[in-house]
Amino acid sequence: MIGKTLTTVQKHLSGHLARNYVADIARYHRLQATPQFREAAHYCRERFEEFGLHAEVLGFPAREGLLYWGWPMFQEWEASEGVLHLIDPPEASKKLAEYNEARLSLFQRSAPFEGEAEVVLLEDGEEWAEYEGLDLRGKVVLTRGDRDRVHRLAVEKHGAVGIISDALKELPGLRHPMDLPDALQYSSFWWFGGETKCFGFVLSPKEGARLRALTKERQRDGQPPLTVQVSVKSKFSDGEINTVSALIPGQTEEEVVLLAHLCHPQGAANDNASGSAAVLEAARVLQSLISRGTMAQPRRGIRFLLVPEMLGFAAYLAHNESLIPNMIAALNLDMVGEDQSLCGSTLTIEQAPGSFANYADDLVVRLAEETSSGATNYAVTPFSGGSDHCLLIDPSVGVPCPMINQWPDKFYHTSADTLDKVDPAMLARVGSIAATYAYFLASAGPEEARWLAEEVLSRHKTRVLTLTRDSLTRGTGQDQQGEDAAKLARTLRFLEERAVRALASLARLADVDLSTWQQEARQFAEGELARIDHLLPHSPAKPPSGEWEQEAASIVPKRLCRGPVDPKNFLNRMSDEEYEEWWRVYRGSPEATYAYPAMLLYWADGQRNLQEISDLIELEAGKRVTELLVVCCRIWQRLGLVGL
Ligand SMILES: [Zn+2]
Repeated sequence: MIGKTLTTVQKHLSGHLARNYVADIARYHRLQATPQFREAAHYCRERFEEFGLHAEVLGFPAREGLLYWGWPMFQEWEASEGVLHLIDPPEASKKLAEYNEARLSLFQRSAPFEGEAEVVLLEDGEEWAEYEGLDLRGKVVLTRGDRDRVHRLAVEKHGAVGIISDALKELPGLRHPMDLPDALQYSSFWWFGGETKCFGFVLSPKEGARLRALTKERQRDGQPPLTVQVSVKSKFSDGEINTVSALIPGQTEEEVVLLAHLCHPQGAANDNASGSAAVLEAARVLQSLISRGTMAQPRRGIRFLLVPEMLGFAAYLAHNESLIPNMIAALNLDMVGEDQSLCGSTLTIEQAPGSFANYADDLVVRLAEETSSGATNYAVTPFSGGSDHCLLIDPSVGVPCPMINQWPDKFYHTSADTLDKVDPAMLARVGSIAATYAYFLASAGPEEARWLAEEVLSRHKTRVLTLTRDSLTRGTGQDQQGEDAAKLARTLRFLEERAVRALASLARLADVDLSTWQQEARQFAEGELARIDHLLPHSPAKPPSGEWEQEAASIVPKRLCRGPVDPKNFLNRMSDEEYEEWWRVYRGSPEATYAYPAMLLYWADGQRNLQEISDLIELEAGKRVTELLVVCCRIWQRLGLVGL
């Protein structure tokens, strides 16, 4: 059923054209809410118009104090210079960093500064103990610690004027910092209001190691510390955050959306010039095929959105709430062009969390299979949040939106994410998947809905069988098996509910009776449940206990805004006690920034208590994070983002 559309699209879609768009887009230093982002947006608008689409660049106010759904806004920022010179000792003097040579050598949104400062080495700068006995007033810290933590402790609490960071984030098993000795880590400040703004410079791991050694050597010899000269010319102003929107009209008001974030520093190719380029190329091909009559005009429109990640998309949605009921589905393309052999990547399709089970993931999986040449692998991954789809798959928004991504990527968020890491064949593959997905759903009626019901049902059965097999064949002792049986039964029930709701979501496409498929999905899972009942001894699982669990059971969160809320965007409004508590739980689960707080809000329907939500998250994520959920809820309540 999708075969014909896919073949037609594949015949016309060019990975090389898409790669050219990547090259063009990557020239812009396209940070969220900056004049250069606006230029990149206009470049994309012109391409859409060239293809024959109606397109526009939209602007929404960018200033401190605004909140778009759960996303706080900041000001526009622009820098004309950022230079860091080592001036003392004179024999070691050299230029360490220059923004106009390498955009990543400055922390984005650095505040202006002119002057000299001593350098103080803090290995991580994340623990209060590291600051004992130090006088940081007027000095710069050299560190590889967490940006927010170092800013809070060194700048806010101890009077440092700036940060020099030689951190390059490790990707376990794929990237050790010294694997990219000369690369710079993409680092930025996000000033939401009330913080002490400062500057930051980024050094490569190699330069950082050299400077650390020099600092220690001088300390040991009792010589004065290193001194740097800093010149940052930058300005903040109330302005705009922009998005690009283009439309192939349908015969109704309904729309399918292809989405990508256009932002990121100059040079950044796979993240996410690649996703934006794949959207452009999908638009070119669809418009050309539809306008020539090779493909019929779809029932629904196809909208193409290029946005500043998360916050910019939140601004768009908050200003276009009336469009949401007509969005029947979307697809998010975030980092899709990777040359897998260079980047170590796998093409991943991110599943919607159980709170918004829907058919769309399975459609993308089918398309990934159809386009697989064997050479390019793919995987289905659980919800991780962290990109624009997480705004749409919020049940309070309710638009099915899988994400196609390539993960991990050895060059992710570094100056080495460049055009030579982009594979035109991969762009062609993902562009074809996206165009086919959009056209198929834009045209879908009863026949397509039934076809999708078969897809969803058969993949549900496969998941159920895989889970049962894995649980039954894992070699464990008798006691362990008892608990496994209870856990397996709960997970199977979770999958059953998930499948039933995913099938129900097809009603959005056409008026079809889905009960036959839903019954089959239930019966199949129940059959396996009955089977394991005989095979595995049952011992009731111990209910989770402890003071956090008790507190969680007494909290029923009620949502006050649409979309997920990232606690890290509210550090400026946290008291010292709140911040320390947040830091403690965040350190325990760094993935906490996106996945868990979002999953919490998705399940919060004003009925479930936090312990029940913790159970559901554990079933899905395999990790119990009750303490983190309680801490999030307490802070959100105080900030007026959630009612309890
Ligand atoms: Zn990114």
